[in-house]
Amino acid sequence: APRVGVLALQGGVAEHAAMLRELGAEPVLVRTPEHLAGLDAVVLPGGESSTLDRLLRLFGLRDPLRDAILGGLPTLGTCAGLILLSSGIEDPAPGQQTLEVLDVTVARNAFGSQVDSAEVTLPWGDDGAVVRTAFIRAPVVTRVGEGVEVLARHRGVVVAVASGSVIGISFHPELTGETTVHERLLQLAEARRSLPA
Ligand code: GLN
Repeated sequence: APRVGVLALQGGVAEHAAMLRELGAEPVLVRTPEHLAGLDAVVLPGGESSTLDRLLRLFGLRDPLRDAILGGLPTLGTCAGLILLSSGIEDPAPGQQTLEVLDVTVARNAFGSQVDSAEVTLPWGDDGAVVRTAFIRAPVVTRVGEGVEVLARHRGVVVAVASGSVIGISFHPELTGETTVHERLLQLAEARRSLPA
């Protein structure tokens, strides 16, 4: 089974681990740089992005995680995880940094308090697929860099992107039992595992 790390510093860790297990992967909770060894993919869950950023740096995980992602480790960031992956935030918390591994700019809490949290069905990709998912104080993508593919929009704004082996989404498929996005991550993990060492 592919070993898939779930960054386990704060936020929605258990739901991702459960979904990965359901899909036949072995979830590995990542709290130290040593936990990154031997992973086939990694998930950065939702939570509070400025807290996650601080903890990543405090635990000495920021640079090793960044190096692993830049080295081709298939990565899925959801919500706060997307914010962590981005190259910049329009409205960062004081001192808030990102990993700068996905060439997009994001805005936090972008759907406003009226529609703070909602369950929706979104068109996914361009082959007629949909994802049933939840938004919770979600960020949006306000700038899409060159070579970054848009996978989904909600109310006209970009909420899912992919670039190389990195996927970033502003929503929470792990809360609705929607497996499409995690399956895509596991396909990337499989493709990487089958490469000659
Ligand atoms: N609003 C949160 C942030 O800015 C993200 C919300 C989430 O991950 N559900 O980090």
